Amino acid sequence: MSAITRQMLLDYMNDALPDTELASVEKALRESADLRALYREVVEQQDRGEHTVGAIWRRERVSCPSRDQLGGFLLGAGDPELLEYVEFHLKTIGCAYCQANLDDLRKAKKR
Ligand SMILES: [Zn+2]
Repeated sequence: MSAITRQMLLDYMNDALPDTELASVEKALRESADLRALYREVVEQQDRGEHTVGAIWRRERVSCPSRDQLGGFLLGAGDPELLEYVEFHLKTIGCAYCQANLDDLRKAKKR
């Protein structure tokens, strides 16, 4: 089995791993208490230090952007970090409520 690196755990946490590696990381995490400890460390470190979209999401859980924020997202206007969050919320989380809201806004704009 190939060694699991910190970077792989980080990517795993952020859903950025290719499927093949994802499977081996999951398997390794199930099998190794040491690796689980390392994973916790990576998660804690990231939550403490960084404000990535993934970290924010894990901390705040899924919080839906407001309609104004969705409108801003449609126009590509606003805080880049917020736009990134909205995109993550829509595409990665796939929030049906916000998708519907966004569709609605899109239609409203065409009128
Ligand atoms: Zn939502």
